[in-house]
Amino acid sequence: MRTCVGCKRRALIGELLRVVAVAGRVVVDERRRLPGRGAWLHPDPDCLAKAERRRAFPRALRAAGALDAAEVREHVGRTEAPRTTHHEPGTSPGSRGSKEAGRPVMSQP
Ligand SMILES: [Zn+2]
Repeated sequence: MRTCVGCKRRALIGELLRVVAVAGRVVVDERRRLPGRGAWLHPDPDCLAKAERRRAFPRALRAAGALDAAEVREHVGRTEAPRTTHHEPGTSPGSRGSKEAGRPVMSQP
């Protein structure tokens, strides 16, 4: 079990992305074989955003300065579901994506 540097939740290694610092950049260690300190992150843009906001990468990777996480951003960006606005004629836009439509509205007490 490893802790995601973004959401701080523990997860299996197989569910996380290993990243290492190379020459001031955060690179994705897809084979989990690169030497040095690694940080673990869910392949999730939300977790990446959280990690960047709290500067988790330089801290976790013991980097002296800021690290460029562009490669990680590109990597996790790919896992995002493509947003398609296109729909076939005859299908109503509300017929699918019930998750979106059925999102519960929390009422404040
Ligand atoms: Zn996470």
